[in-house]
Amino acid sequence: MDPRPLFGMTLHELRDLAGELGHKPFVGSQLAHHLYQRRVANFEAMTDLPQALRQRLSDEFTLGLSPPSRVDASIDGTKKYLFPAAGRFVEAAFIPDEDRQTLCLSTQVGCKMGCLFCMTGKQGFQAHLSSNEILNQIRSLPEGESLTNVVYMGMGEPLDNLDNTLKSLEVLTSDWGLGFGNQRVTVSSVGLLPALETLFAQTKVRFALSLHNPFEDERRQILPVQNVHSLTDIIAFLKRTQRIDGRRLSIEYIAFAGVNDTPRHVKELVRLLHGLKIRVNLIRFHPIPGTPLAGSDEAALVRMRDALTERGIPATIRRSRGQDIYAACGLLSTKALLRPVIEDF
Ligand code: SF4
Repeated sequence: MDPRPLFGMTLHELRDLAGELGHKPFVGSQLAHHLYQRRVANFEAMTDLPQALRQRLSDEFTLGLSPPSRVDASIDGTKKYLFPAAGRFVEAAFIPDEDRQTLCLSTQVGCKMGCLFCMTGKQGFQAHLSSNEILNQIRSLPEGESLTNVVYMGMGEPLDNLDNTLKSLEVLTSDWGLGFGNQRVTVSSVGLLPALETLFAQTKVRFALSLHNPFEDERRQILPVQNVHSLTDIIAFLKRTQRIDGRRLSIEYIAFAGVNDTPRHVKELVRLLHGLKIRVNLIRFHPIPGTPLAGSDEAALVRMRDALTERGIPATIRRSRGQDIYAACGLLSTKALLRPVIEDF
């Protein structure tokens, strides 16, 4: 059996582990301090633990830190890292800006959701990432110490891997963990309703809904998940909960020429989002092979942004980052790299 990784365990799990090893629970708190605050690179550096315990930890466990196996750098400063995970690979995009350093991380190898415009969706689903594998993308990122924001918007649907997503969020946002403020963490989802309710009940992080079309029947054409989770129910849930907890919400909206960027769509968006305090991020579409969709032009994006803003819904046009290295929104995919792995089975 592979040694269990410690990085990615919650405080509760580390305290239980201390008990299993015959130590008091506070030893678990010491482990959390070494793992998440001191970010030690080996068990020997945990110098306040008894030597026998350090030895046992290095014999039977691993920290679970895996450096990226490849990096591609964009001319705009964005970097795409390839991390080993679940016996395969996932990608994470590091996006530096003037006032923030953001990591867009992955939660699954591939994805089951099959969104028509997404390279990851075309790859199909291969595996869920563990909390260790999700958080390793932060810990083993060369720029990890300088990160200001983390977005769960890379490969995979975070709410389809709910337990591991929640566990990673607990470690990421707790004082005993990596200590990221909830306002610096955003989870994005197509809206898997029961899982979304759990996410809101257990975390205070920001939430971004991948909407892409305000009409249910039209949304179904590009997001097959609409067949299971209705937009009306999702928006009703967001309205109910935002009234109670004031959650910071945003909409991700990839604009497709003639498909979802018309005045009719703006009007319906305004109607649908009425009563929500929410920002709409308009995203340029980066064409992928085998899709009939084309991106809206600049003029259409500006028209949408202005029309929404005039009607009281703040909207911005998201700047494309890392397009030349396929790190931009919807372009993350490890299909080519997966092929040799898949063929080995
Ligand atoms: S857009 Fe997100 S949910 Fe849809 S297929 Fe791509 S990774 Fe999955």
